[in-house]
This record gives sequence, structure tokens and C-alpha cells, in this order.
Amino acid sequence: MSKIICSLYDSLHKMRLNQVSQEELSESAIIFTPHPDDESLGCGGTIIKKINAGANVHMALLTDGRTSHAQFMDSQKLADIRQQELVNASKVLGIPEESVSLMGYPDGQLHDFVDEATEQVVMLIRKLQPKQIFIPYKGEMPSDHYYTWLAVQDAIKACDVSVTIYEYPIWFWYHWPRITNSGQIRKKILWKNTIKSMLGLSLITTFNSYLNIESQMAQKKNALDQHATQMSRYENNPKWPILNDVGKGRFMDCFYRPIEIFKKYKLG
Ligand SMILES: [Zn+2]
Repeated sequence: MSKIICSLYDSLHKMRLNQVSQEELSESAIIFTPHPDDESLGCGGTIIKKINAGANVHMALLTDGRTSHAQFMDSQKLADIRQQELVNASKVLGIPEESVSLMGYPDGQLHDFVDEATEQVVMLIRKLQPKQIFIPYKGEMPSDHYYTWLAVQDAIKACDVSVTIYEYPIWFWYHWPRITNSGQIRKKILWKNTIKSMLGLSLITTFNSYLNIESQMAQKKNALDQHATQMSRYENNPKWPILNDVGKGRFMDCFYRPIEIFKKYKLG
């Protein structure tokens, strides 16, 4: 049943949203990702399409990912592994290592380093002069996601440049009606909430742009798999949490859909 809802939802998106054009795909961009994995989850397929269209794409990672499994591994070791995973995922998406910036702010503490991060983003924007900038959706729950959004917004103002912003949702999906804490679907609630959100069109009115990434899905999944600490149980530790545990896999299903969606607008 959820498959039918998904395809109905995707059809609604296509009616309401504008597809990213071929011209847009070829424009230069910086992808700002709060943690290693958000980039592939939220816009992996889009990055692949941009690279194929000949765009210059730069990847900028704000934090070092040191806290995701701090109870199981030394945090510096985890930070080193996760930053390398981001480099590997970028390579699969088509972005070479020399086009990846690792800013290295401590995971979960970006709020304490917003001024420094903004300054670094300013330098990157001035150097690369991108036409497009990808950032997490403003309404995201984890604070690193919001402070990534804020640092980049402040930097754009400081640079006084004109760019197109693409906000990509990650944890927004967690609140999607299909995902409950227990991962169970209670049919009546599912229908009630899904229909409500369809009629309310909260998601559809928030996002205004989409890209079909069906043909890029295998490559996107390959990029995601580079984030081995997030996608598989490290050293077969059965207690090691992975992304597929969230909502018993339903959270990840949101990123395996044939479209990626954005809130697109111009700044400057
Ligand atoms: Zn994140």
C-alpha cells in the first residue's frame, strides 16, 4: 500500500513542482553538507546529473561526524573515518578529492563555531564564484543542519553575490506520516495523516523543484554505501546503529525514491 501512496505522491510532485532544467544542471555549484552522508542522501542523484552535464561541483563538509557512534569508537578515529567516507562518496558522485573541503568543526557543536564557519564559507564562495548553492532545508531538526544553513546564508550576504539556492530535505522526512517511532504503520493513522498532508500540501507547498534521478539511483546507492559507518554495522557489531534502523527502513526509503526535491530561490 505504501508503494501506491509513494507513486501517488510523486505524481502530485511532478504536477506541482518544476523539474530542474538541463541548463541549471550545467551550472557550477557548491554542496554544503553538515555531516558526511547528508550530501548523498539529499542530493546525490542531482550531483551525478550535474557532473554528467559538465558542471563544476565542489563539496564542502562542515562537521567531522565524530559523535554518530561515540559510544562505540574513539571520537577522533570516527571523525577520521567519516571524513574519508565523505571523500570516497564524493568520488563516486564524480567530485575529485581536490574539490572537497573538510572544514572539520566538531559534530554537534557547529553552533559554537558559526562565525568561523561563515568566514570559511565566504572565502570559498569568493574563490569559486558558484552560480548555485545547495544547503539543508531550513526547517531541519538537528542543530548542525540549521547552523550550516545560517552560516551559508550569512556568507552569501557578506559576499554580496547573486546565487540560486537549493535547500534539500533530510530529517524533514522523519516527520513524514509514513514514519513512526516504532516503525509500524497503523493504517488508519497512515491514511488520515497522508491524506491530511496531501490536502494540506505542506510538503508540496514548501518545495518547488524536483529532479528525476531514476537512472542515477544505482550510482547514488553506491555513493551512500561509501558511508560504511552509517550504512552497515561496523565490524559486525550487532548493536552498531545504522540509517536503515530509523523507522525500520522507512526513513531510507525516502531517499531511494526516483526524485529529489528542493526548495529553490534566488539570493542577491
Ligand atoms: Zn546530518
